[in-house]
Amino acid sequence: MIARSQPKIEPADWQHEVRESLARPAALLELLGLRPAEVGLSDAAAADFPFRVPRPFAARMRVGDPHDPLLRQVLPVHEETRARAGFVADPVGDLIAERAPGLLHKYRGRALLLTTGACAVHCRYCFRRAFPYSDSVGTARLDAALQALAGMPDIDEVILSGGDPLSLRDERLAALVQRLAALPHLQRLRVHTRLPVTIPSRITPALVDWLTGTRLKPVIVLHVNHAQELDDTVATALAPLRAAGIPLLNQAVLLRGVNDHAGALLALSLRLFDCGVLPYYLHLLDRVQGAAHFAVGQARARALMRELRAGLPGYLVPKLVREIAGETGKTPVA
Ligand code: SF4
Repeated sequence: MIARSQPKIEPADWQHEVRESLARPAALLELLGLRPAEVGLSDAAAADFPFRVPRPFAARMRVGDPHDPLLRQVLPVHEETRARAGFVADPVGDLIAERAPGLLHKYRGRALLLTTGACAVHCRYCFRRAFPYSDSVGTARLDAALQALAGMPDIDEVILSGGDPLSLRDERLAALVQRLAALPHLQRLRVHTRLPVTIPSRITPALVDWLTGTRLKPVIVLHVNHAQELDDTVATALAPLRAAGIPLLNQAVLLRGVNDHAGALLALSLRLFDCGVLPYYLHLLDRVQGAAHFAVGQARARALMRELRAGLPGYLVPKLVREIAGETGKTPVA
C-alpha cells in the first residue's frame, strides 16, 4: 500500500488553530453531544454577535453537560435577544474616552490602544461586543493613535487591548512595541489577552522575544473565569513567560451560571497560582446589551468575597471592582 503524504501541521502553529476555530454553534454542540433545544441556542443571538470558539478551548468542555461553565461563556442563547433596561451598547464609556482612533484615555498615567477587533474566542458577555472597531483599528488609525500618544507626556503605561492584541502576528507586534519604546515617557507595556488560554500555542519564542527585548517593562493580564479553562497545556504554555520574569495577572468577570459560587472562585484562584498567575480583579459584569443573564447582584458578590477572604491567603483574593463610565479608576465594591 502506498503511504499518502499528509500536509504537515505543526502542533505549535497557533494561526492554524485560529483558522480551524469552530464558527458554528451546531458544530460545538455536536462535539459535546448536546441538542440546541436543551441549551437554549439562539440563531438570532449568533447573528447579532458571531459565534467563535477555538478547538483547544472547546476540548476543555465537558461532553454532555449543558451547564458546562466554558460552554455557557460562548453559547449564543435566547436571553441575549431580550432588551433589558440599563444594558447598553457601550457600558463603560469607551467611545467618550477615545482621544484618537483606537486610543482610549480614562485613567491618569495610562492609555489603552485598540490594536485589533479580532479575538480567538467570542465571549457572550464581552463589554466590547458592539464596539465599532472598523472606525478605530487599522494601520492608518494606529499611526494617528501613536502620534496622539507621543503628545501625551503624562502617560507612562500603555495597554495593548482590542479585541485581543495577540491576534496580531509577532512581527507586527514587535514593530509596534519598537515604536512605543521610542516614546520616552512610556515605561510600562501591559498586554490584555485571552489567547494564551484559548490557544496556548500562541505563546511562541518570538512573542517572548518582543516582550522582553524592549526597554518597556512588560506585564500580562490574562482573562480566565473558571479553573477548568486552565488545563495542563495552558500551564505549560505559560512557563516561558514566567521564566522570562514577566508578571502574570488575571482578571475575571463574575458571571451567573459560570463562576458565581465560592467553590468555583476558590478553585480559580488556586489554579491560577499553580500556573504562576496572581488573581488581580474580579469584575462585576459590565452592563452590555445582550449579557443581562450573566449579571450577579452586588450583595451576592460581596457575600462571595467574604467566603473568598475566609478561604484563601490574602494574595489569592482578587479585588472586586466595577467599571463606571467617567470614573478616574475602577470602583472597588466594598
Ligand atoms: S477575548 Fe476579551 S475582547 Fe475578545 S470577546 Fe472575549 S472578552 Fe471580549
